[in-house]
Amino acid sequence: MSVELANLLFPNVEETLEDLMKRYPRRPEGQMVTRFAPSPTWFLHIGGVSTWLIAERFVHQDNANGIVFLRIEDTDQERSLEGGIDLIIQGLKNFHIQFDEGPLGENNQDAGNYGPYIQSQRKNLYHVVAKHLVAQGDAYPCRMTSEELEATRKSQQDNKKIPGIYGSYSKWRDASFDEQKKMVESGTPFVIRLRSHGDMTKRVKVSDIIRWDIEMQDNFLDVVLIKAKDSLPTYHLAHLVDDYLMGTTHIIRSDEWLASLPLHLQLFSLLGVKPLQYAHVSPLLKLDDGKKRKLSKRKDPEANIEWFFEQGYPVDAIIEFLMNIIDPSFEERQKNNPEKKYTDFVFQLSHMNESGALFDLVKLDFVSKEWIAKLDKKLFVEKCLEWAHKYSPELHEKMVNNQEYTFKALNIERCTELDPKRFTKFSDIVEQLPNFYDEVYEANYENKPELPENVTQEIINKFVSVYLEKMDLHLEKDAWFEQFKEIAANLGDGMNFAGNNKEFKEWGYVGKIGDLAMFLRIQLLLSKATPDLSETMKVMWAERVKKRLQKAVK
Ligand code: GLU
Repeated sequence: MSVELANLLFPNVEETLEDLMKRYPRRPEGQMVTRFAPSPTWFLHIGGVSTWLIAERFVHQDNANGIVFLRIEDTDQERSLEGGIDLIIQGLKNFHIQFDEGPLGENNQDAGNYGPYIQSQRKNLYHVVAKHLVAQGDAYPCRMTSEELEATRKSQQDNKKIPGIYGSYSKWRDASFDEQKKMVESGTPFVIRLRSHGDMTKRVKVSDIIRWDIEMQDNFLDVVLIKAKDSLPTYHLAHLVDDYLMGTTHIIRSDEWLASLPLHLQLFSLLGVKPLQYAHVSPLLKLDDGKKRKLSKRKDPEANIEWFFEQGYPVDAIIEFLMNIIDPSFEERQKNNPEKKYTDFVFQLSHMNESGALFDLVKLDFVSKEWIAKLDKKLFVEKCLEWAHKYSPELHEKMVNNQEYTFKALNIERCTELDPKRFTKFSDIVEQLPNFYDEVYEANYENKPELPENVTQEIINKFVSVYLEKMDLHLEKDAWFEQFKEIAANLGDGMNFAGNNKEFKEWGYVGKIGDLAMFLRIQLLLSKATPDLSETMKVMWAERVKKRLQKAVK
């Protein structure tokens, strides 16, 4: 009777599970196979990149000859974003790490022998397995209307019963073949449900690589396997069909699926196959008002990886930051082996933090700053140009029109022992670069920061006239500073500035050298925080320095 029902439900499905097994031969014994399976309902989430990195490291590290493939889970067609697949693939490509298989070719063509790698193109495969389950008596069509479902839910709530469709709550579980036939032939939409053999009173042992052995409530719910609306599978059936046919050995996925693990184990047992290995990864956490909470797509712009690119964090820094989060021992090991790349360290999935790792942007800033400091001058400028081209075209134009000047301005003190590491991310150039260009300087001039109070107009007039006469931009940094101090200490007429705090207190100077240096910073670059003054002036060179300083004289 079940076979008859199966034929009635899937008259056009001719292939059998055995046929599929021939089409998708088993992978080599012992090969580790995992996958990254995002749904294109949103931009690429940073948590997704982290899950992907875990999967990729897991199968590729330590010379393991494993496979990681990309599978697009777009069975929720209504929530799928237009162009969402490309957003994911492009987003991942930014991280320069290749997948072994997936919809990676032109127009999302398959690369690999286990495709299609996009779920909406696998409908026939799901139907073959659903038919198989119906024929085995492990699944059935159910036509409960939404009113019936709602009434069931309400009665369960009123009678303090566990909600869901199971046992006698399932109107169609034990319907006769004739009733089923009449229903199907009437053309009313129906779903296909699992006929669960699980026991409500039983707890089952499940194992998870990160959480080890745990006990969970057995699944007893007749969950939906195929939806009525579009005959596409739910996550549960798709997981069974895809990960079985594609030869996955390890499922690394978000812990929101942990609760469904007993159900998934049940489904695999219905096909008579060995359970896969699972690792349920906790979400990235964020500190909000002193409390930890899940990084939220809705509230946190940094959930979207585009935010990191817009901010100008180097890809390698993002990866290193994620490795810090993923692998609790990464930071220590890297500190001890600074010359090594993240791919040189082997990480243990079983050592991952089961309660979720803190996504700490301060840490990202630290990692990123160090990364940028390691870039050589040319590469740094190239990266800044690349960033500006995309996110600040106006600045990009200026950079291109003043290439040599830009190169020097960006690299003040970089790649030397004195490098103060001024750049945390490429977007910092928006703060630090524009006032080097004369048009921008002129346009911003009136909005410059306030000068220290003790630097009066009279002092400015005097200082500028003396300084411009003596200024020597060939002097080395220390000699430059000595000259500057000397000039400042001898302006005369009660306008002398002390070379340090101690002198200032003892001799009653009008101010400290820092006050005059502040005048120089503000007057030259309209900012209280500039790179080293002597180096900055060398980059600007005499004519520009003169012009900018004279502008202060009245
Ligand atoms: N599409 C599922 C999700 O985005 C994938 C879960 C899995 O990796 O199995 O949550």
